Amino acid sequence: MSRRAFAIAALSAGAWLSPLGAEEKINADINTRIRQEEKDHSQVMRTLHFFTDVYGPRVTGSPNLKAAGEWAIKTMESWGMTNGHLEPWDFGHPGWVNERFTAHAIAPFKDQLTAEVLAWTPGTDGTVAAQAYELDLPDRPTPEQLTAFLGGAKDKVKGKIVLVGRPTLVAVNFNPPAKRRDDAQVKQQYDPGNPDGGRGGRGGRGGRGDQPPPPMTARQIDEQVDAFLVANGAKVRINDAGREHGQIIAFNNRTYDLARAVPTVVMRNEDYGRIARVLADGTPVQVEFNIVNKVYPEGRTAYNTIAEIPGTDKRNEIVMLGGHLDSWHSATGATDNAIGCAMMMEAARILKAIGVAPRRTIRVALWSGEEEGLLGSQAYVKQHFGSFEAQKPEFATLDAYLNIDSGTGRPRGAGVFGPASAAAILRDILKPFEDLKVFGASATDSRNVGGTDSTSFNNAGLPGIGFGQDPIEYNTHTHHTNLDNYERIVEEDVRAGAVVIASTLYHLAMRDEMVPRFPAGEMPAPPKPAGSAQ
Ligand SMILES: [Zn+2]
Repeated sequence: MSRRAFAIAALSAGAWLSPLGAEEKINADINTRIRQEEKDHSQVMRTLHFFTDVYGPRVTGSPNLKAAGEWAIKTMESWGMTNGHLEPWDFGHPGWVNERFTAHAIAPFKDQLTAEVLAWTPGTDGTVAAQAYELDLPDRPTPEQLTAFLGGAKDKVKGKIVLVGRPTLVAVNFNPPAKRRDDAQVKQQYDPGNPDGGRGGRGGRGGRGDQPPPPMTARQIDEQVDAFLVANGAKVRINDAGREHGQIIAFNNRTYDLARAVPTVVMRNEDYGRIARVLADGTPVQVEFNIVNKVYPEGRTAYNTIAEIPGTDKRNEIVMLGGHLDSWHSATGATDNAIGCAMMMEAARILKAIGVAPRRTIRVALWSGEEEGLLGSQAYVKQHFGSFEAQKPEFATLDAYLNIDSGTGRPRGAGVFGPASAAAILRDILKPFEDLKVFGASATDSRNVGGTDSTSFNNAGLPGIGFGQDPIEYNTHTHHTNLDNYERIVEEDVRAGAVVIASTLYHLAMRDEMVPRFPAGEMPAPPKPAGSAQ
């Protein structure tokens, strides 16, 4: 019977899986106590409530994010954890908060308009009412074409509220993606015998097909259009959210310089389309905006949130776990990633509550600046560990870093940066949780930075471990959207997640050896300067 067939048979029998043939020592008693503690005394939804309802949104550099970190420290210390502190790093941009925002159509129809403010853009300094103007940018322009086009539109945007681009046609989706991953597919992904395994659980990104890359990036076009709107006196810029069912994703003015943009919002596709269609009738549309944004200069210093369970005989070795506490601003950031932080804190709480004395020190780290490009975790890794090529003394003391950051779905497996033997250890540790639908681990040799904070560790050549999760509504509804709130969390899944992570954490902290790394001669080369990630 193959390993996989055995797993399926055992699962269908509802059996508790013993780590047959495994070399890892699995403490079944501790696993039972971990499950029982989470069943009887879970705090994970309470933690989520504070991070979202009380402290959300948690934009990097904002007072809310700092207060959320302080609450987390106070809470972890109340659970008996120690060395709680905020660890500063240089964000280099002021904090930014939207305090108030209204948008209405005044004529020819009267209605409220649904939109979200783009971060690090200025407010309107009171209510502004103006005609809407649709600026139809050329498709895939060269810099020369864009400059010529904008040169011809100078007189048209002055004093106007400008819709930038034609509305996106968002078709009805007759084939919505599944909320759970198929068991067989997950098992195949984490099957050590599968040559295509080990490429992580985040799914592929759509290719460009046969089209060559455009002459200008979206960012380059945005910055040129922003400069044009500032120079020619536009009142407000409106971008089309371009998504179904009123979903809005509002990121930031990527220069972080409020002087380099007019007040800017992202409007739901339905309102954007309505205005555009009425304008296309030849009917003028009058709209009215009031945006109040506040800047916090002290936000230039941002903070990662740290707390520990001290180790015993191997206390100088560290097992880290975390997720990013910062969010975008148009919702309270429940699935991205308050719940990841809540699950990690919960895993540490469980171990503390059942009274284990880990051999290694366990360190929770809740990052900031993730959404702006994994900045907080990269700063931490650089400061504490350096990299394989430029090692600091602590480089040798990090056992592994566990990360979770793909929403509310339960973990289905784990990916680890390192040799196949590292994945084999995790596979054995995770095996008792097949009843919770966790099906193994795979190894990756990619040092690319992107996606989430575990890659900051991988990039340095350290064993970053990322959990692959069921998608639930993450990519379809909540990731970075205005719908990312408390209600979207599936309690059963996140409690399962806390149990699986607590056990992984425990077993890593108790092993005789640390998680194996690539030997010096086999360490993959670091990538060329890192791309950005959100
Ligand atoms: Zn995230």
